[in-house]
Amino acid sequence: MKLHEYQAKEILARYGVPVPPGKVAYTPEEADRIAKEFGKTVVIKAQVHVGGRGKAGGVKLAEPHEAKEVAGRILGMNIKGLTVKKVLVAEAVDIAKEYYAGLILDRASQRVVLMVSKEGGVDIEEVAARNPEAIIKYPIDPHKGLRPFEAREIVKRAGLEGNLNKLAAVLVQLYNAYVGVDAFLAEINPLVVTTDGQIVAADAKIDLEDNALYRHPDLAELREVEAEHPLEIEASNYGFAYVKLDGDVGIIGNGAGLVMYTLDLVNRAGGKPANFLDIGGGAKADVVYNAVKLVARDPDVKGIFINIFGGITRADEVAKGVIRALEEGLLTKPVAMRVAGTAEEEAKRLLEGKPIYMYPTSIEAAKAIVAMVGGQE
Ligand code: GDP
Ligand code: MG
Repeated sequence: MKLHEYQAKEILARYGVPVPPGKVAYTPEEADRIAKEFGKTVVIKAQVHVGGRGKAGGVKLAEPHEAKEVAGRILGMNIKGLTVKKVLVAEAVDIAKEYYAGLILDRASQRVVLMVSKEGGVDIEEVAARNPEAIIKYPIDPHKGLRPFEAREIVKRAGLEGNLNKLAAVLVQLYNAYVGVDAFLAEINPLVVTTDGQIVAADAKIDLEDNALYRHPDLAELREVEAEHPLEIEASNYGFAYVKLDGDVGIIGNGAGLVMYTLDLVNRAGGKPANFLDIGGGAKADVVYNAVKLVARDPDVKGIFINIFGGITRADEVAKGVIRALEEGLLTKPVAMRVAGTAEEEAKRLLEGKPIYMYPTSIEAAKAIVAMVGGQE
């Protein structure tokens, strides 16, 4: 579960990380009032669950008398498909240096890994691609935690400048927060050294581990349904395992393994999946109909690949669901389909003569749908 920057900063502050004072505004008038309360330059920041808000125009400096107008421009903005409904109005900091500090659970080393870089501020993935040596990675012993002497060593190795003890202390506080709230990811980017030598977290990101949320009922309450992708909300109402992706081939399958395999096949054929959708086991026609309706409505989807292996799911039920969507005129995009297993013959009979492209294998269906949506084979 993703937290907003202002929520992440509240948590970090509880663990001792210095953060600039700030308040949330839902309207330009509120932003105006908060900025005038601070009475100095503020930074007005879109609170949406995506990175790169700065580049998208969602982070702007403003003098108190400009705050209303600037907040008015940011509120209602669309950043990567999400509408900005609130902004953080925070005292601006004078930046001398922008560093990066992050913690992520690394499956390979089975450790929480600390990452520190003096190339902060920008997209860390971009630094990782362009200049991987600029990021120091340090796997933390789960029994010992991150100890101050280790943090100081890392700060030096990363080449950070300024008050090294304070920088190291922030790393330890970040780690304590990460463990304390059962985070999956925690980042400070930029970790700022100000012109007068102070160290502050100018931006913060925390993703919580969903499986540990039951231990943090206060944090679980922060979940905002409206901040999630609208199709993901609809999918969760249907009980589907659905994840929105950034391609144009809609994917429907039964069983998480088969759906992942289907995503891989589409990728290998040169295409890009628009979603992951698992209709689960034993799906009846109405479930399939809802799945098709949902995926067909996604404006990014140019073609749909339905991949069904009939076990407890009967292929003829799947066919009936698809046919209902067809008859209701919901399927205006090309559909490639592969069905095998239980009731396969009945399914094929039902679909005969229908405007659905049937393929005997998943690989052929993947290649065909990618070609149909205009990707290269
Ligand atoms: P992100 O783009 O979503 O990561 O948002 P950030 O909060 O990291 O802001 C992006 C950039 O805006 C930072 O890297 C800074 O360069 C700049 N910025 C953010 N807050 C301040 C501030 O208080 N003062 C100044 N001068 N620049 C800021
Ligand atoms: Mg940032």
